[in-house]
Amino acid sequence: MRLTHNLPDTGLFPPSFLRRFIAAAIDLVLCYATFFVEAVMVAILQPIPMHVPAAEQRLVANIVAVVVISLPVALILILPVSRGGHTPGQFLCAISVVRADTKGPTGLIRAAGRTLLWPFSFACLGMGFLTALRDPMRRTWHDKLTGTLMLLGPPPELTTTKCERCGYDLRGRLTMGRCPECGSVFEPDTVQRGIEQDEHRGRYC
Ligand SMILES: [Zn+2]
Repeated sequence: MRLTHNLPDTGLFPPSFLRRFIAAAIDLVLCYATFFVEAVMVAILQPIPMHVPAAEQRLVANIVAVVVISLPVALILILPVSRGGHTPGQFLCAISVVRADTKGPTGLIRAAGRTLLWPFSFACLGMGFLTALRDPMRRTWHDKLTGTLMLLGPPPELTTTKCERCGYDLRGRLTMGRCPECGSVFEPDTVQRGIEQDEHRGRYC
């Protein structure tokens, strides 16, 4: 059974805007620090050849520019989110980014989409951010467009009692590690937590 958006039910909360702002500021400083280190490296290594046609110089300069800009964006803003659920700034501010539907890891494409659409939320007089004020989970445009969600605290541990692919009931099949119906691999700990959660609910609901 998948967790829902229902806040009282899940115990999940969105981080405050101040917390998000501080996290973004920390990440921005880290990006600029990385840009600075890269600029120094370019100045020292001088990768643009001087005694070649201007067109080739431009080509190399463009490649260097793309690498210099995309490296910190990938290393600080995208990869850490896709793998661990937070940028360095978000980690320090106890924020995690998850998939809105499963509350699981975002994966690379959603993490990249989120980062690249961020300026879009910022444009239009910050409308993409203001819209979050009316959303119960404080989701911005770039959250909604990529199906992601920011949470206060670490990413929640996933729980389920059913096969992700075919919906087969995995209770009592923990030792197998594979769905007997469709053969897809599952994490026994995830199912164990799902069983415990259901028992807990049965006791109190
Ligand atoms: Zn299955």
